[in-house]
Amino acid sequence: MIRSTLYFVACAATALFMTDTSLTAQTAAFGPENPFYSPSALPFHAPPFDRIKDADYQPAIEAGMAEQEREMLVITNNSAAPTFQNTFVAMEKTGLLLQRAQAAFNAVTGANTNPYLQNVQRELAPKLAAHQDAIYLNPKLFARVRTVYQTRARLQLDPESQRLVEIVYDQFVHAGAALSDADKEKLKKLNEEASKLEDEFSRGLLEAAKKAAYTTTDKSALAGLTDAQIAAAAQAAAARKVEGYLIPLQNTTQQPDLTELSNRATRETLFQQGWTRAEQPGNDLRPVVARLAQLRAQKAKLLGFDTYAAWKLEDQMAKTPDAVLHFLNELIPAATAKAQAEGKDIQAVIDAQQGGFHLEPWDWDFYAEQVRKAKYDLDESQIKPYFEIDNVLESGVFYAAHLLYGLSFTERKNIPVWQPDVRVFEVQDANGTPLALFYCDYFKRDNKNGGAWMSSFVDQSRLLGDLPVVYNVANLPKPAPGEPALISADDVRTMFHEFGHALHGMLSNVQYPTLSGTSVPRDFVEFPSQFNEHWATYPAVFQHYAKHYKTGEPMPADLAAKILKARDFNQGYSLTELLSASMLDMQWHTQPSGAPLENVDDFEKQALEKSHVALATVPPRYRSTYFLHIWSNDYAAGYYAYQWTEMLDDDAWQWFEENGGFTRANGDRFRRMVLSRGNTENLATMYANWRGRAPEIGAMLKDRGLTEK
Ligand SMILES: [Zn+2]
Repeated sequence: MIRSTLYFVACAATALFMTDTSLTAQTAAFGPENPFYSPSALPFHAPPFDRIKDADYQPAIEAGMAEQEREMLVITNNSAAPTFQNTFVAMEKTGLLLQRAQAAFNAVTGANTNPYLQNVQRELAPKLAAHQDAIYLNPKLFARVRTVYQTRARLQLDPESQRLVEIVYDQFVHAGAALSDADKEKLKKLNEEASKLEDEFSRGLLEAAKKAAYTTTDKSALAGLTDAQIAAAAQAAAARKVEGYLIPLQNTTQQPDLTELSNRATRETLFQQGWTRAEQPGNDLRPVVARLAQLRAQKAKLLGFDTYAAWKLEDQMAKTPDAVLHFLNELIPAATAKAQAEGKDIQAVIDAQQGGFHLEPWDWDFYAEQVRKAKYDLDESQIKPYFEIDNVLESGVFYAAHLLYGLSFTERKNIPVWQPDVRVFEVQDANGTPLALFYCDYFKRDNKNGGAWMSSFVDQSRLLGDLPVVYNVANLPKPAPGEPALISADDVRTMFHEFGHALHGMLSNVQYPTLSGTSVPRDFVEFPSQFNEHWATYPAVFQHYAKHYKTGEPMPADLAAKILKARDFNQGYSLTELLSASMLDMQWHTQPSGAPLENVDDFEKQALEKSHVALATVPPRYRSTYFLHIWSNDYAAGYYAYQWTEMLDDDAWQWFEENGGFTRANGDRFRRMVLSRGNTENLATMYANWRGRAPEIGAMLKDRGLTEK
C-alpha cells in the first residue's frame, strides 16, 4: 500500500518545535541486526520497542523506500497484461518494511521525541514526499492502473475490490498522473510556487503574531488577571527583552485573556493587535493569501475542475462544494439567531452595570464569562475526585465498548512500549478470539506534541492477515508519585473521543489495507470519535465510572447535571464563529480560475455578508490573513469537516436514542454497517444505509441547545 507521509488522526494536536540541528543522523547500514529487518515476532506484530534504538529508524525507512521502489518496478515492468491481481493487489502488498518502520517512527516522534529524532524527521520529509511522487507520477504504472480502472465493469470484481480500484485510481488522478507531460510540468511549477507561498505564510504568520503581541509598562492595564497571569506576562516580556508586560497572541481571533481583562481599553487594543496581526508593514500576508487563492484555482483548472474546492471535495463524503454550502447555509440562521440572543443577554449585563457602551467583539468573552459564572459554573475541584483515570478507562471507556460491542480488555505487561507510562491491552472479541492490541499514552510530557490523537502500528487487513495494533496519545496531567490521577470532565471526553478513533481501527474488518479502519476522508474520520463521546455522559455508563476515588460513592446528581448543562453555554457564538470561518474558506476556494488577484479585506467582507454570517459582534474564528488551517495546513476547502462530522455524530446518536439506546444489538449493527467497514463503500451510502436516510442537522442544533430540547 502507499502510505501517506502523515496519517495521524490528529484531533487537536499542535506541532512541537525544537531547533537543535547540531545532531546529524548517521545512516547506518541496514541488515538483520536492525529490528525492522523482518516482521516483528511479537504478538500482533507489535513493534519491538525493547530492541529499537533511535539510530535504527532512518536506515530502515530508507531501505523501506528502496524496497518499495523495487517492488513497484516489478509491477510496472510485468509483461503480462494489467489485471486487478497483478496491479492493484500487488500494490497493496508493497512497502511493508517502510510501513512498519514509519509507523513506529511516527509514534515516537509524536509522543516521545528528542533532537536526534527531530533531525531524522527533517531529513526524511522531502525524501518521503519524493518517494510518493515517484509512484503517483510514474506514467507506466498509471497506464496499468487506468487500464484496469476502465475495464472494471467487466471484471466481475466484488464491491470492495471495485472500490479499491476507484479509490486508488482517484489518488493517481488527483496527484496529476493523467496529465500530459507539458501539463505535468505546469502542475509542478504551480505546486512549487504554492508550496513556497504556503511556507512563507506559516513562517510569516509566526513572526507577525510574535510582533503583534500586546505589551504595556502599566500594570494597571492588566487589571482582572490573576497574580500568576501577571507574573507570566512579566516573564514573557523579559524573555523577549521587552520592558513591562507582554501577552502573546493565540492563533484565533478571540484571545484567552479577554475573558478576564477588566480594562476595556486594554481589551480593545489586545483584540485589534490580533485582528490586524498580519496586515502590518513588513508583516503583511494579504499578497500571499491573494496569490495562493489564485494559484489554487489555476491548479484545479489544470486538473479538470471548476474550482479548487471541487477538486478537494471529490473524494470526501460531502463530494461537492454545493453540498457543503447547502449544509452551512442550513445551520447559519439558527446559529446567528442564537448568537444575537446571547449578545442581547450580554448587553443587558453591560447596561445593568451602567457600562454606557455597545457590546463589541472584545467585550464578548469578558461579559459572557460573568453570565457563565452565574448560570453554569462548574467547580473542577468538586468534580475531579470522581474521575480517576484508570477507573474512567476501565469502568467507563472499556465498559461502554464491552456492553455495546462485546469487547474485553486484558492488560499485557509483556509487550514492549516506547515510554514506561504507556499501557498495553489485548482486546478480545465477544467469542474470546483475539481482535486487536491497544496502547494508551495519556500523560503530558515535554517531548510530546500537544493535543490528543490516535494512530496505528498495524492496520487490519485480511489480505495481509493482519490484526490491528492501534494507540491513543493525550496530554493529561500526570500526578505526583503515589497520588491518584484525577482528571477533568473535558479530559474524560478526550479519552472517549480518542477511543472512538481506536474502535474504528480495531473493529475494522476489510480485505485491503488501503481501505482499512480510519483511512477515510476528513469529513468522516471524526464521526466515530465524536459519536463515542456521547457515551461518556450516557447515564448507564456515567454511573458506572463516575465514582469517588476514595469512597466509591457515585457523583451526586446535581453535580452531574451541571456538567451536562455547562455544555449549552455560548453555543450560538461558538457555532457562528466556526461557520464564518468555514464560509470564508469555501468562498476563497470556489473562485473560478480566471478570477483576478483579490483585495483581501474587501473579499473577506463581501464573503461574510454574502453568506449572512457578518455579525458585528461575532467575528470569524480565523480571519483570512491568519487562517493557518487553509493556507498551509491542508484544510483548504476542508474546515467545514469539523461541523459536518458533528452533524453525523449527533444524528447517529439520535438513532440510538430512538432505537432503544445502549444495547448489544444496536452496537453490533453499528459495528457491522459502519465501524468495521473502513472506506470500503461510498460513505454517504454507508451512512444512509445504516441510518435509514441521509444525515440531517436537527439533532446537532438540539445538542448545541439552539432549538428546544
Ligand atoms: Zn478526533
